[in-house]
Amino acid sequence: MSLDIIELAMDIEEMFGVEVSRTDLDDLLARNNPPDIRAGDLYDLIEAKHPTKRICQACRYDLRGHVSPGCCPECGKRFDDWDRFRPLVAMHCNTAPESLTRDSLLVRDFDKHW
Ligand SMILES: [Zn+2]
Repeated sequence: MSLDIIELAMDIEEMFGVEVSRTDLDDLLARNNPPDIRAGDLYDLIEAKHPTKRICQACRYDLRGHVSPGCCPECGKRFDDWDRFRPLVAMHCNTAPESLTRDSLLVRDFDKHW
């Protein structure tokens, strides 16, 4: 299965409640030669757009507006958007979450059929 950046972007929008446009993706791709997306750059883009979907996994407190990583002000449980981002991207790259780092290049490292 090859990586579909557009489908990944749609899942990110769904999970984090941010808009990731084709222009955003092109900007990220253009930072690498050959064109590629660094996982950390994609993550930083999401955070910069201030996710509107972030719920405490322990008590369901609405964590929107809080800075990730952080702790839930209601129950104290630690939260980190990276912990949601990594498995999602890894799934799209058909790899294990542990093998994905901020410096992973999604096409070079995981996609053999671009
Ligand atoms: Zn909580």
